[in-house]
Amino acid sequence: MIEIMNYINGELTPAICGKKMDNINPATGEVFSTVPESKKDDVDKAVEAASNAFPFWSKLTNAERSEWLIKMADGIKARFDEFALAETRDNGKPLFLSRSVDIPRSISNLKYFAKELENFNEIVLDDRGAGINKILHQPIGVVGTISPWNLPLYLFTWKIAPALAAGCTVVAKPSEVTPLTAFLLSQVCVEIGLPAGVLNIVHGLGPDVGDAMTSHSKIKAISFTGSTATGKIIAKKCAEDLKKVSLEMGGKNPTIVFADCDFENALSTAIRASFANQGQICLCGSRIYVERPIYEKFKEAMVEKIKGMKQGNPEAEDSRQGAVVSKQHFEKILYHLELAQREGGTFLTGGKAAVMEAPNQNGYFVEPTLIEGLSENCRTNQEEIFGPVATIMPFDTEEEVIGYANCTQYGLAGSIWSTDLEKAERVARKVDSGILWINTWLLRDLRTPFGGMKESGRGREGGTYALEFFSEKKNICIATE
Ligand code: NAD
Repeated sequence: MIEIMNYINGELTPAICGKKMDNINPATGEVFSTVPESKKDDVDKAVEAASNAFPFWSKLTNAERSEWLIKMADGIKARFDEFALAETRDNGKPLFLSRSVDIPRSISNLKYFAKELENFNEIVLDDRGAGINKILHQPIGVVGTISPWNLPLYLFTWKIAPALAAGCTVVAKPSEVTPLTAFLLSQVCVEIGLPAGVLNIVHGLGPDVGDAMTSHSKIKAISFTGSTATGKIIAKKCAEDLKKVSLEMGGKNPTIVFADCDFENALSTAIRASFANQGQICLCGSRIYVERPIYEKFKEAMVEKIKGMKQGNPEAEDSRQGAVVSKQHFEKILYHLELAQREGGTFLTGGKAAVMEAPNQNGYFVEPTLIEGLSENCRTNQEEIFGPVATIMPFDTEEEVIGYANCTQYGLAGSIWSTDLEKAERVARKVDSGILWINTWLLRDLRTPFGGMKESGRGREGGTYALEFFSEKKNICIATE
């Protein structure tokens, strides 16, 4: 049994109240570790440590802070297999995914922001009769990061890396559902001797730890990724003392397939976009719109491929579909499957819990499900399910499909498939989402702005956008005459 600890002021410690929660492996339904059930007093201690570390950390040069980020990245790399297995046990995702996406991307988040700092310097504007202007980016202070369970270390590092790089000290809250890799990272921080208080990791429930962070007057900014419902609670809290806030929230993303697409590429990517990580990626394409001339052919080919997908023990090398993250989430997905049926949908594949063999007979597995016959306005096509569930429907015109794409409260991402790049870009420009891919999905350049419109987000992460979020701009104007 692994005993996960908080990481506060450079030390691994239990919650002050001594309480622990069970942490369950969703692929077996068994408890395999415990997590501190921290409260406000743990957050207070972490904020005090971060405040004490701020003067030292913020005065380091960019190059010195970069070196620490690279040491953290190297520390993860040195224990790569351990991190990958931990992510799989905690989350239920196939090991191949932890190895090929989650852990490599966590390392590159830290390395990327270490490098990006080279371009994040003071700017001096020429004297054009208005004196010399210097533009400074000064770290905002102690900041809080709150992250979800779907890409646990990937999204945790996506926030702490730019915050630390910008010179802020951090109180970070991983999801209580998947706390293990953040704990391993805190062990790495101890191993490399990261100065005490620079990064503090407090485990616990959202309404306890998260709420104490959003209410704390010494935390100057909150960077949040999670559901839209939680994002709204956090936005209200942060408004009370005008805390800066960045919100990355839910999605219900369209995949638009035109008849003139590269069929095989569109097909295999539409499947990956629907079911990668059991459909638990905010960028997943859960509404598939196919132009009528190829609708039947595309649908049948999708069904055949989905049926051939290997679902099984996430720790097995060949497993491509694992378990969903928790019992609670499993039940939510099953509820939505029932709802889809009530709304008149037909299951072309799946539609129920998957029956697994030992040791996974009590795990939380859902069959990859493709649904046909639903209207664009029904709840199944409007609400984020965040599981291995996608709908498919035909369309006839560009205007019609743009209307479908834009008809939800969300606006995070989407992908468009056509060999007519002019048409694809014309459509992309009319879809109200923060990220549109043409003939690809999840192709990421970390310099680009990442985030959503409408109820999917406020603000952008990535590149200098993230460094700017964690900074205050200051203009010093010097008279030259
Ligand atoms: P969630 O909103 O339940 O929890 C996210 C985090 O917020 C957790 O750490 C949780 O403990 C914390 N939290 C919960 N209540 C809180 C409160 N009152 N105050 C402060 N913190 C609180 O989300 P989840 O179920 O962990 O993650 C799934 C959601 O995340 C999906 O909606 C998904 O679309 C979204 N997501 C968005 C992005 C993006 O970049 N837009 C990326 C990944 C996931």
